[in-house]
Amino acid sequence: MTCQEYKDLMMAYLDNELDETQRRVFEEHLASCRDCAKEMAAFRRLKQMTDEVEFVEPEDRLWQQYWGGVYNRIERGIGWVIFSLAGILLIVYGGFAAIENLIKDPTVSVLLKVGLLALLVGLAILFVSVLRERIYFWSKDRYRDVRR
Ligand SMILES: [Zn+2]
Repeated sequence: MTCQEYKDLMMAYLDNELDETQRRVFEEHLASCRDCAKEMAAFRRLKQMTDEVEFVEPEDRLWQQYWGGVYNRIERGIGWVIFSLAGILLIVYGGFAAIENLIKDPTVSVLLKVGLLALLVGLAILFVSVLRERIYFWSKDRYRDVRR
């Protein structure tokens, strides 16, 4: 066999596609031919590199999952913020409507009005915070049920 023929077999050798006899003949030639041994080393490096490229693929998928996760978290975060603000606004508005007459009453002191409004805002924030917590844990519980 000529050197060119051995070179044609190199990729097949690296991919374990040669039968035992071909393998032995090939290895014997490599041991005795520096030129082919050098070429073989280059092929080996090439194969290593292409193998590494293949390893990049699942990592790409991990990155996509990672960024998908970050996006989801940001999305959920924004959702919670809007939900909280809307909830607080609605409760404050509802509460304000309930004490509107009191606020408009000129005989009630300003300090009491401010105190009532602060109480209202505080209650609204607290309520939304607790509600958010309940919803959060409820969704976690549901997730646990799915995993079981
Ligand atoms: Zn050779």
